[in-house]
Amino acid sequence: MSNWNHKHIIDLSKFSLDDYKTVLELTTRFQDVSTTRSRKLPALQGRLITTLFFESSTRTRSSFELAAKRLSADVQNFSVATSSLSKGETPLDTILTYIAMGADILIIRHDSTNVPNDLAQYIDDNKINTSILNAGDGFHSHPSQGLLDLFTLASFFNPNNPSPESLLNKKITIVGDILHSRVARSNLWSLTGCGADVTLCGPKSLLPDEFSDFVLNPPPGQKNDPITHRGSITINRSLKDALRGSDAVMTLRLQKERMHQNMLTDLDTYHKNYGITHDRLKWCEKKVPVLHPGPVNRGIEISSQILEDDSISLIKNQVSNGIPTRMSLLYLLANRNIADPS
Ligand code: ASP
Repeated sequence: MSNWNHKHIIDLSKFSLDDYKTVLELTTRFQDVSTTRSRKLPALQGRLITTLFFESSTRTRSSFELAAKRLSADVQNFSVATSSLSKGETPLDTILTYIAMGADILIIRHDSTNVPNDLAQYIDDNKINTSILNAGDGFHSHPSQGLLDLFTLASFFNPNNPSPESLLNKKITIVGDILHSRVARSNLWSLTGCGADVTLCGPKSLLPDEFSDFVLNPPPGQKNDPITHRGSITINRSLKDALRGSDAVMTLRLQKERMHQNMLTDLDTYHKNYGITHDRLKWCEKKVPVLHPGPVNRGIEISSQILEDDSISLIKNQVSNGIPTRMSLLYLLANRNIADPS
């Protein structure tokens, strides 16, 4: 397993093939831990992990909490509703309070893009040892979801050895509200980074043409892409054409809370054009798995029948794989440069 050099995990644009390999290998090992009787490892005993969610969450927060507990860390959960934010404290002062309590890793979700990045910058400028793990910032990034999706797909294609190579030349189709999706953006970095070709499908209002250049434009300040050969990104607005030849389909929630008015005609038309159903999956020309990061709008982006069809839906796998994936990320951040739990 190679050295881990990231102090913070903000997005996947700086991940190399070795980083993906390390995460997938470690996740496979931590997945085995959940089948043991104690389900726990002492790896992070005495470490303090704090979850700070300024935006709501069902899966991500509880999955991180469980992952931290499985590694025997101490866990603190900050909740906006019961915090001093209501007394006028600024988010930065709240965060500094948790750093002063000795947090080794802060897992943060915020509806504003760049809050985790700005915080990481502040921490580095002030020579603080705490790591920042982005659990979703606005439209920008949701790296742990991108990595658990990668592990889920790699395990599907290659159950005995889920590795980055398992994705090479696979055609993955992502359907829906790409514009507002931090999950889609994280998957674009990780899937193309492992050599998959991604087809994006959705109406123009939710999938602007610029997305075809997404991985060609490194974020500001980053000159070199650590990946030498990325898979392609293609936009196809016809669901029938986009699904043809796909090896897997990922559908996304319509993020109504982030939409301005008039972005969609109506939900029935959306479902008719882009909803994933058993009938439309036939356009793939073979049986393919379907992923969705949740929460799901049943009957809009995906039919209830697909949701309940365990021979097609990988949604439960995504949820359960989230725990060992997040264990890996916590482990790697807490043990930078000594990445081996054995
Ligand atoms: N749970 C995912 C996120 O936080 C996807 C979604 O909300 O639709 O981005």
